[in-house]
Amino acid sequence: MNILVTDDSKMARKMLIKTLDDCITEEHEIYQASNGEECVEVYKDKKPDLIFLDLTMPVMDGFEALKKLKEINPNVKVIIVSADIQKGSLDRVLKDGAKDFVKKPIDKDKMKIIFNKFRF
Ligand SMILES: [Mg+2]
Repeated sequence: MNILVTDDSKMARKMLIKTLDDCITEEHEIYQASNGEECVEVYKDKKPDLIFLDLTMPVMDGFEALKKLKEINPNVKVIIVSADIQKGSLDRVLKDGAKDFVKKPIDKDKMKIIFNKFRF
């Protein structure tokens, strides 16, 4: 199981990774990206099974990154993680093919639900 965590905030990535490490019992590897462009590059290189994607980031935001990831692989599993829960943003990312949308910060219970839903 390989997971890519994308967020421009190092602290946010750290918190998400901690929650992942606490929730996942099977062997897993976690990659990190700090903007959308890096996310796409790491995706091409490592082909992670699951991607956690922030929306507001410099260089390339999460909306743009999601579109590019879907072009590369229409079945890519992207979970949007954002403090921005405006309905417009939610509708947009779900229409663009995100599998789920969760509010930051993700707690352990929520992470377990997400992980069990999207692990395969
Ligand atoms: Mg951000």
